[in-house]
Amino acid sequence: MTRWQDILHQYGKPTPWPYPIRYDKEQEIECDVLIIGGGIAGCWAAISAARTGVKVALVDKADVVRSGQGGPGCDHWCVTPANPHSKVDPDEWAESLVKHPMLSPTPKEFLNQISYTNGIGTQIQCREDWDTLLEMEQMGGKIRDDKGEYIGAQGRYDDGIMFSPRMSPNNTTEVTVRVWGTTFKPALKKECQRLGVKVFDRVMVTNLLTEKGIQGNRVIGAMGFNGRTGEFMIFKSKAAVLSTAGSNSLGFLNMELAGYTTFPGSRTKTGDGEAMAWRAGAELTLMEVTSPHGLGGGLKHTWYGGSSDASFEGIQQVDANGKPLPWPLQGWPDGGTMGPSPQEREKITKGIQDGTYALPFFGDFPGMSDIERRVTWDLMLGEESTTKNITRSYEMGGFNPAKHQLMNFSYIEGTSPSHWLNGGRGGPIIDWDCKSSLDGLYVAGESQFAAGDHSYAASTGRYAGRKAASYAKNIAHGTVSKDQIALEKARVYAPISRENGIDWKELHAGIARVLQLFIAEFKTESMYNIALEQLKNIEEVFVPRLYAIDPHKLMRSIEDLSLLTHAQIVCNAGLARKASSRVLNFYRIDCPQIDPPEWNKFITVKLANNKVKTGSLPLNYWGNMKKEYEAHNKDYAGVYKSK
Ligand SMILES: Cc1cc2nc3c(=O)[nH]c(=O)nc-3n(C[C@H](O)[C@H](O)[C@H](O)COP(=O)(O)OP(=O)(O)OC[C@H]3O[C@@H](n4cnc5c(N)ncnc54)[C@H](O)[C@@H]3O)c2cc1C
Repeated sequence: MTRWQDILHQYGKPTPWPYPIRYDKEQEIECDVLIIGGGIAGCWAAISAARTGVKVALVDKADVVRSGQGGPGCDHWCVTPANPHSKVDPDEWAESLVKHPMLSPTPKEFLNQISYTNGIGTQIQCREDWDTLLEMEQMGGKIRDDKGEYIGAQGRYDDGIMFSPRMSPNNTTEVTVRVWGTTFKPALKKECQRLGVKVFDRVMVTNLLTEKGIQGNRVIGAMGFNGRTGEFMIFKSKAAVLSTAGSNSLGFLNMELAGYTTFPGSRTKTGDGEAMAWRAGAELTLMEVTSPHGLGGGLKHTWYGGSSDASFEGIQQVDANGKPLPWPLQGWPDGGTMGPSPQEREKITKGIQDGTYALPFFGDFPGMSDIERRVTWDLMLGEESTTKNITRSYEMGGFNPAKHQLMNFSYIEGTSPSHWLNGGRGGPIIDWDCKSSLDGLYVAGESQFAAGDHSYAASTGRYAGRKAASYAKNIAHGTVSKDQIALEKARVYAPISRENGIDWKELHAGIARVLQLFIAEFKTESMYNIALEQLKNIEEVFVPRLYAIDPHKLMRSIEDLSLLTHAQIVCNAGLARKASSRVLNFYRIDCPQIDPPEWNKFITVKLANNKVKTGSLPLNYWGNMKKEYEAHNKDYAGVYKSK
């Protein structure tokens, strides 16, 4: 790895900026459908829109070939109940997921109670996920063991489709497919190009264009700039799909220690989408939710840097003397349960204290059968993104899973501090077309509130793309406001107009500090108000000093402004929820009642005439999921068959 100080040693001064600087240039692009964010959802949206014959532009801050959280890989295609081997009904599976969200197993006492999920996206995923995966295969993505490398593995069928134990105790459901996800992103980019999608790599979208520049009006395009040249970009569109994913480092920044990983998400997840939708007047929900950072931040190993959780399937965890621990195998008997239950954790902790179990713990790879070990090590860990780095680094260091056990860090290192926060599960309210409350603005993937995983992003992207295309076919371009463009240019280029000032890292750390101090574990109305005051102070005193030396740092600086807006939305939404909620992990000291029935609803926030307006929606505002899906998709010719 080349470090900044190595470059300074070698060259004595920073190397010249390697790209031409074009801050004074402007490019205007006209398209029918604009896709903002070319991750998993964005690529799928672009492809499905382009297949209907409309003109599509796809814009990403990074290079679409590997950008976003799904760029490096994916090993679980999690929710595929419409596949031919599935033993569950897709519509019933969707209903059950809405009651018991998949990735955060619901404690038993909450079963059949409330849950803040997204019924629209979940229904789309359950109906269209298998179709999406088959289309992935047609584009060149690898979804089955076609070479017979894993014959004999549990969950493998003769057609080469392989299932994970996740949510399928002893193969009783067969809903999560094991995939070779490192092949996906390059295949998606290639398909975009084959279909004539105009791909704009390294362009950050900074704001939406609204009809006549008025907040709350139809979205008619977007603005941004190139992160290498600084050139200003104006996209005029008839419909836009927002697929930038959420925010990832709202309450924590540590770029100085090596090993800064950003689970859950790539560095580009900075709440830009929420911030631009908010400024345009879209109604957002679940913005009050924050969750602790599940990452190491260079201070400890990542969430699953040891030998447990996520992709480490089927491995017995043992103590330092090889004694098996009461830790789920994350395998077939327990349906891939990730991590010990509170009761198991208590038992293990007691066992450590009374000498029953000796630290450190290890994942017993040599104890696995050869075939299951190869599936876990080569396929699952090898196709997932961060774990691929882990396994390859270990291998380079001489680790051999057939001979060596792998240390489990999760007990020794504990969890991340509760005041390191991630932006919550929020996003724009959507309808059955995945359209936001603003005409012309569609939403897909993790930009949706309470979104799911990779396959959720793929299937909702594919869906939103075709709905946006259908809307674009029946409407003309809107009227762009020159004033809106001029204001955005002034906002975006302010940091490069200064000779010196505050660096983006300082500003980011300052915003994070406000969240850590005032709205972390102990939330009250007055603490929220202090946080808002402090954020205003940052906006008025420190943002005017923000300084960027090149287009890349300009991009980081504008990301900070998104984080600042995101933080303000989180505070306003938090003030509006006047009750605590266990399900939302939201505890207000001044409103201690937990999940009182009258507060079991979505809280909504939006800007109208630049004033914050709050509202609410019932938890099942989408109606009957099966009926509504069918009513809105009469023309959908997927391969789905009801069982
Ligand atoms: C390490 C890791 C492993 C994972 N493994 C799995 C797995 O095995 N199975 C699974 O189901 N899920 C997995 N996930 C989750 C899954 O990758 C995500 O749910 C999925 O990628 C979300 O897709 P998305 O398109 O919504 O967001 P992303 O794929 O993150 O794409 C968002 C895109 O928007 C771009 N962008 C952001 N802001 C802007 C802007 N202002 N202008 C232009 N572009 C912008 C970003 O550069 C990015 O390319 C994993 C996630 C991580 C981080």
